[in-house]
Formats: sequence, C-alpha cells, structure tokens
Amino acid sequence: MCGIVAYVGGQTAQDILLDGLTRLEYRGYDSAGLAVLGPAGIERARSVGKIARLREAVERKPLGGTTGIGHTRWATHGAPTEDNAHPHVDCTGKIALVHNGIIENHRVLRDELSAEGHEFRSETDSEVLVHLV
Ligand code: GLU
Repeated sequence: MCGIVAYVGGQTAQDILLDGLTRLEYRGYDSAGLAVLGPAGIERARSVGKIARLREAVERKPLGGTTGIGHTRWATHGAPTEDNAHPHVDCTGKIALVHNGIIENHRVLRDELSAEGHEFRSETDSEVLVHLV
C-alpha cells in the first residue's frame, strides 16, 4: 500500500518529506519520489527501491523549497520504474500529483486526454489525474 506525505511551512521540505516517507516504509513499496516547489518551479526526484536511494539522489541534486509532496508507490498499473514513480506532473510542469489507489477507467480517460493533445510520460493509471486537473 502506498504512502503519502506533504509539507508546507518554513523549513526545507525535502528533508521533512524524506523522514515522513521513511516512517511509512513499513507499508511496503517498490519506488518513491518527491516534488518540491522552489524558486524555479516544481522539481522532482524519483527512484526505484528503498528510500535510501531517493535520499542519495537528493543529496546529489538537492530540491530547494519549503512546499512539497512525497510518495511511496506500490505499483498496480505499470512496472516499478523511475518513470512510473510518483509524483507525476502535467504537460506544463506546474502541477504535481501523487495518488493512492486504482483508476478503473484510466484507459478511456487516457485516450480522451491524448486526443486533446496531452502527452503521457508514464504507464500508470494515476497520471490521467494530473492531466485532468
Ligand atoms: N495505481 C497507482 C500506480 O500504479 C498507485 C499505486 C499506489 O497506490 O501506490 O502507480
């Protein structure tokens, strides 16, 4: 089952989000990711496997900002890959989204959104939500 954590405040979001995800590890997951809103917009870090790998990724390339979301994924639609890891972003890169659960009609929604010009970057059911928003 996935885990979701979010932070808005005055401190650096990435460390709080990583600590939150670490506390949710017991729920089980196959990949994890963060999206943080910084001065340059939304930046993401995602990785397959343990939170420790995600932590290494943000140590190499920190995400600056005090607002963010984090997710541990238990894949239902799409393989456990970095591209399929949440958070997902819309075509403009201005919206980031994490999701827990299954979207039963995701294929119909994906086809409709693709016909409208939306470009999908993952195999997940969840990505339709961020394009719908
Ligand atoms: N169905 C979504 C996916 O496969 C969410 C899985 C979850 O709840 O972690 O990405």
